[in-house]
Amino acid sequence: MTTYSYNISNQKVDCIFDATINQLENYAPANAVVIITDHHIAALYSQQLSAYRVITFVAGESNKTQSTVDQIIQQLILMEIDREALIVGVGGGVVTDIVGFVASIYKRGLRFGFIPTTILAMVDAAIGGKNGVNVGLYKNMVGTIVQPSFILFDYTFLQTLPEAEWRNGFAEIIKHACIRDAEMFSNLQQHQLIDYIKDAKLLTDIIQKNVAIKLEIVAQDTLEKKERLFLNFGHTVGHAIENSAQLKHGYAVAIGMAFACQLSEKIIDFNPNETAKVIQLLKQYQLPTTADLDVDMIINLVQADKKRTGKEIRFVLLSAIGDASIQAIPIETIRAQLIEISS
Ligand code: ADP
Ligand code: ZN
Repeated sequence: MTTYSYNISNQKVDCIFDATINQLENYAPANAVVIITDHHIAALYSQQLSAYRVITFVAGESNKTQSTVDQIIQQLILMEIDREALIVGVGGGVVTDIVGFVASIYKRGLRFGFIPTTILAMVDAAIGGKNGVNVGLYKNMVGTIVQPSFILFDYTFLQTLPEAEWRNGFAEIIKHACIRDAEMFSNLQQHQLIDYIKDAKLLTDIIQKNVAIKLEIVAQDTLEKKERLFLNFGHTVGHAIENSAQLKHGYAVAIGMAFACQLSEKIIDFNPNETAKVIQLLKQYQLPTTADLDVDMIINLVQADKKRTGKEIRFVLLSAIGDASIQAIPIETIRAQLIEISS
């Protein structure tokens, strides 16, 4: 077990690597812990969770809603959970987003931590304090930014993670490589997904590296004024596709990253050979890079994006692999590029 503590907006966040769930005892006695998780994890890990009170909700992005938040809060009230309790979200990104939100609003905020059980949650969703719910098709429209006290990495949960979910998480790992780390990009080129599934050392190395990249960016810019915007690489179009085409988040972001590379060629002379390398790497990790696009629907959703101001949107482009840049781009330019790649 190795603990790294990071300071984000004056709050200490412990990252506990190579840990087990039992190490929760370092944060609170079992009778003060309330685990909140989804019904898949609750069923698969009932034994590991048996020492704690558990609140369960139905898994899936479509349940990342205010109604689920209300149901959880009702149960917290019924259980008479007070401000001394420790709330722990155990699960994927849907769980960490909902639980961070619940814990930051219930009784005006309780101490909370996460045990992420998907690759996506480990390298992305559990980190950075953003939490919240969707409103209809609009992703993460309501929420808060509050940091967890700890993120505990217990890789034994990954033994039941379906391979499609591994790919989903590697999309965010490839994103981090594209915007920040050319060396990690070439490491990823030299491996296949199966290598990380089988080799615990390789896995823990890449998880720790990605956690560090994300935390470093978040620490520089918690409120998303500048550096944190880079983390939206592939996400503007990705989110719109995810909603309209019902794709997994990472798969939609993979398509969004391919699109952003092509747009980068047009706008800031990103080298087409580099676009080819990004697309090749996404394919190597069995991620999609194109889809049948409903351009009008995507543009409608892009217009609702939080990063839009007037007729332009701040869009993350690549100037090189490992180096991102942000440009205000007219929505019409995005429409034209979408039409070009979908025809
Ligand atoms: P994310 O991909 O954002 O992390 P979710 O929280 O929706 O998203 O998790 C994806 C799916 O994988 C959900 O159905 C969830 O119940 C399931 N899941 C999460 N972790 C595990 C795990 N360790 N083993 C098996 N299934 C898991
Ligand atoms: Zn993402």
